[in-house]
Amino acid sequence: MEVVVSDTPVPQPLLLRGGHVLFPDGMSRIADVLIRDGRIAGLGDPAAAVGDEEIIDAADQLVMPGLVDTHRHMWLGSLAASSSDITLFPYAQQVNEGLGDPFTAEDVYAGVLWGAVQAINAGVTTVADWAHNLGSDADIDANLRALHDSGIRARLYFGGKASAGGDYSRYEAQTRHLQAAHAARRQDDGRIALGLALRGPSMATPAENEYEFALARELGLPISLHAGMAGLPGTVDQLGRQDLLGPDVNYVHANEFTEQEWKQVAESGGTVSATPTVDMTMGLGTHPAVGAALEHGVPVGLGADTVAYGPSDLFAEMRLALAAERSRTNAQPINRGEMPAELRHGHLDMLDLATRGGARVLGFADQVGEIAVGRQADLITLDLSTPHLDSFNNPVLAAFLSAGPRDVDTVIVGGRILKRRGTLTNDLLQRARREVRSSRARIRGRSL
Ligand SMILES: [Zn+2]
Repeated sequence: MEVVVSDTPVPQPLLLRGGHVLFPDGMSRIADVLIRDGRIAGLGDPAAAVGDEEIIDAADQLVMPGLVDTHRHMWLGSLAASSSDITLFPYAQQVNEGLGDPFTAEDVYAGVLWGAVQAINAGVTTVADWAHNLGSDADIDANLRALHDSGIRARLYFGGKASAGGDYSRYEAQTRHLQAAHAARRQDDGRIALGLALRGPSMATPAENEYEFALARELGLPISLHAGMAGLPGTVDQLGRQDLLGPDVNYVHANEFTEQEWKQVAESGGTVSATPTVDMTMGLGTHPAVGAALEHGVPVGLGADTVAYGPSDLFAEMRLALAAERSRTNAQPINRGEMPAELRHGHLDMLDLATRGGARVLGFADQVGEIAVGRQADLITLDLSTPHLDSFNNPVLAAFLSAGPRDVDTVIVGGRILKRRGTLTNDLLQRARREVRSSRARIRGRSL
């Protein structure tokens, strides 16, 4: 296993010159972005450069905050596009158990590193890694190391080995190992934070929930759980009865929350992650929870969930979220035989979910999600010279309508350049590809 982006010292100052910068108000204007000590140090025309910066020509590029994915199982990177056209339980059997169960620590490393390559290449600079295939301390170390080596920013939600079912006897010891291993890496730049991926009432008994929630709170780790999926009702209701709700709980999917559950989530300060492709194509709900969350004032972000079944592209998720939300809200007038008089939510709302909204969900709101002085320098640029991103006067709208991973020209995380002129840096792609090829050969060999 190789260190790709190691504990490099403070990155070199950068000046992104003359790009169309997406500002927090949703408007874009041509400006320079100055990056020092890994943070945005100046914004304007020109920014206050002193001369030792590396100049990056951003003319004809949209400079926007890096995308924030609030729910992705990173270990599945090596199993991309391995499953389709089946619902959740056969999917879990085929992928999580069939292919995932025999994973070694080397397979975890390869899967997570390749998952990070998929994310970074697509403009995702921060990811919530919902890690539920870690059966040993070596697996935990491999997951942490892969996130670290990739250069991505992450919150690692530790979920043990999901297929172990109720056997959580080692969970507490493993969680403490994770915390110790993480603390030993504190010499890095603080890119990786921790949380616990819990089974929740859909998958665990009330007594197990109580123990797991108490552990998370004792250790000061935020919680994420799958909740509100079709056929698995009552999650929030059950947690409410056990007095376990709180602002530290992130609910993934949330498609089938009742009105009462939405109120409970809003009142308790919880957050939601919507995963439009998987929500709709796997049948977890009729539409993603984006509109309901916004209407109830619940912080909400987007996620790709599983690249074994869906794309790695948050631009696609943004478009799908808007289309689904319009479909849901337009249905009423359409069913009355009327043309809708007005449309709910817009493209800037969806861009917000994939940046600032996601940062809020992950507890990184004061760090990332918008281009402002003092924030972490987590930025991406999109090449606007390509015909499908050309626009009359609105590069932000063009990006929303048509951008995809291939349009991501530059990716910067904490001031470090991870992708430049469309190519991943530091041999990340080559090294991760070697790892994933070996891992896939092992996985195939085991299933013979
Ligand atoms: Zn998930």
